[in-house]
Amino acid sequence: MPNFCAAPNCTRKSTQSDLAFFRFPRDPARCQKWVENCRRADLEDKTPDQLNKHYRLCAKHFETSMICRTSPYRTVLRDNAIPTIFDLTSHLNNPHSRHRKRIKELLMKLLNRNKNIKK
Ligand SMILES: [Zn+2]
Repeated sequence: MPNFCAAPNCTRKSTQSDLAFFRFPRDPARCQKWVENCRRADLEDKTPDQLNKHYRLCAKHFETSMICRTSPYRTVLRDNAIPTIFDLTSHLNNPHSRHRKRIKELLMKLLNRNKNIKK
């Protein structure tokens, strides 16, 4: 069975390409961050265990610095990797979106994180 990417507006499947897929982390705090960044309300009430078993994100949602290619056949995420690259345009254009504030917060977080990387 192919893996589907859980990100909104992403239709990638594991059978379509050699793009790597990553399971949601079992660690509750990190898993929570993934769900927040995905902005899928339907994932918010799932346990990290369920998410880890049934949901994945494709490599498109991670900055390249988060991904380590240990060999041509094996791609792994850094231990603290958080997906940050999502196509959220449809959410932003929705005036009723309850996520607008969170998107702004996310952008601020990103900016702060980039600062840390450059240090
Ligand atoms: Zn994807």
